[in-house]
Amino acid sequence: MPKAQETVLEIDLKALKHNFEYLRSKLQKNTKLLAVVKAFAYGSDAEEIAKYLEQLQVDYFAVAYANEGVALRQAGVTTPILVLHPLPVNFNSIIEHHLEPNLYNFKILNEFINYASSKTKTDFPVHIKFNSGLNRLGFSSNEVDNIVATIKATNAIKITSLFSHLAASEDLDEKAFTLNQIETFKAIVKTFKNAIGFKPMLHICNTSGILNYPKAHFDMVRTGIGLYGFGNSEEENKHLKPIGALKTVISQIHHLEKGASIGYNRAYISDKPIRSATLPLGHADGISRIYGNGNGFVTINGKKAAILGNVCMDMIMVNVTDIDCNEGDEVIVFDGTSTAEDLAITANSISYEIITSVSQRVKRVFRR
Ligand SMILES: *Cc1c(COP(=O)(O)O)cnc(C)c1O
Repeated sequence: MPKAQETVLEIDLKALKHNFEYLRSKLQKNTKLLAVVKAFAYGSDAEEIAKYLEQLQVDYFAVAYANEGVALRQAGVTTPILVLHPLPVNFNSIIEHHLEPNLYNFKILNEFINYASSKTKTDFPVHIKFNSGLNRLGFSSNEVDNIVATIKATNAIKITSLFSHLAASEDLDEKAFTLNQIETFKAIVKTFKNAIGFKPMLHICNTSGILNYPKAHFDMVRTGIGLYGFGNSEEENKHLKPIGALKTVISQIHHLEKGASIGYNRAYISDKPIRSATLPLGHADGISRIYGNGNGFVTINGKKAAILGNVCMDMIMVNVTDIDCNEGDEVIVFDGTSTAEDLAITANSISYEIITSVSQRVKRVFRR
């Protein structure tokens, strides 16, 4: 890769392939792999990532919202796409683009059946989600009989899968809670299958579920963060490769006297002569203001440079007093060595948040 001359998010498709194969190696031969490509494939680029994963023969995709699925269909993606959080206002695009909704309560179940019937659909693929303890989206276990009765009364939909979501799969201190979620899910699907007379696919594991609960893979697993290179543990991070590298460049260097202030509200005041570098990325690019005032850092010529003062919308200033560097030099915000997780930790955040925050104005470049 040539050195960055502006702010870019480099995306390494070879690293993606490595992560895909690593996660696959954790599965039984017949277990399906669903790639979660919501939020622009965790801030990378949903269309490129999905098309590449299709070449690797991924079994399923999931997005959060219907418009994300529509964008994939328009890019030519033909693999089934589960919409994790559909809303009734999206039913038209869901049906038109062959997206598969998660139906999580009676309101959306009934409204979807009515809508699909009004479009004379039969056996339209849908997924039923159960709440096993996350208390976010999903039917509760005592609703099974009613769901089954509702489904039996229509031929508009077909239940493709039953699923649930773990609340703390990465946290082994919560193992008892997670095992209880898995048992709750098992009990629900047993009742469900007996009543319905056929066997939809079952899935409950996200990335950390795949890694920590191999007995709970069921028919399919849903992986997001693992594909993008993070395993929510030091040990697993060693096996995965971050696919994204956020790079920028030094626009200007200032030599400042003791007592000089830097940036808005004069939030930083130097207590000795200092050299600062101004970089062309700010909070509008995904570097939240929490990273300012010495919390976050970037890497320049192999050395850490702390962020000075407040993060501006389009720029940050960093401390390069002890770094041999010039205007035009490349700057690493995060990459495979100084990772997004390392940066996120400085603001009490997590890899998920910082990578999904890289805004759409940052140019994406692909390493194939
Ligand atoms: C986002 C999401 C996932 C992916 O989780 P990771 O921890 O990124 O693997 C899986 N399932 C559901 C329901 C999700 O919302």
